[in-house]
Amino acid sequence: MDALVIPGGESTTISKLAVIDGLMEPLRDARRAGLPMFGSCAGMIMLADRVEDARPDQEVVGGIDMTVRRNAFGRQVDSFEADVVIPALVGKPFPAVFIRAPWVESVGVGVDVVATITRAGDDGTIVAVRQGPLMATAFHPELTGDARVHELFVEMVRKHS
Ligand code: GLN
Repeated sequence: MDALVIPGGESTTISKLAVIDGLMEPLRDARRAGLPMFGSCAGMIMLADRVEDARPDQEVVGGIDMTVRRNAFGRQVDSFEADVVIPALVGKPFPAVFIRAPWVESVGVGVDVVATITRAGDDGTIVAVRQGPLMATAFHPELTGDARVHELFVEMVRKHS
């Protein structure tokens, strides 16, 4: 296995199932061993070192020095699409789909902020990050035909393998 994608869904459920199936520790071991991982939405939460608005017993794989807030943009009905400027990508803004998405509240010095979006009263909410072989987006790049975020991850995988 060259890399792992942790998809969106529901991070509480992903976490519970990973613990029940005995996958949480192997996932952490793989991450510590340097396996490249990409998490989108709930997957972003799984890769965060710190999670806000989670159940106290929610376990994560961790690895990215960031604090993520679950359901930060609001409830399911507050889901939205936005064209996000991602400086690491060539060409037009990226069509990003946010579904009851988290956002990144804060990052440590080793974290590369890949994308922010502007909301009313705020000058930059972090929605995509990278740290070493790990990447996470608050949005779902697999829901549009635009493969540039996946290509970015494939480049990272090549670099780290
Ligand atoms: N709200 C979900 C969670 O907290 C994430 C939603 C998603 O992955 N689209 O896990």
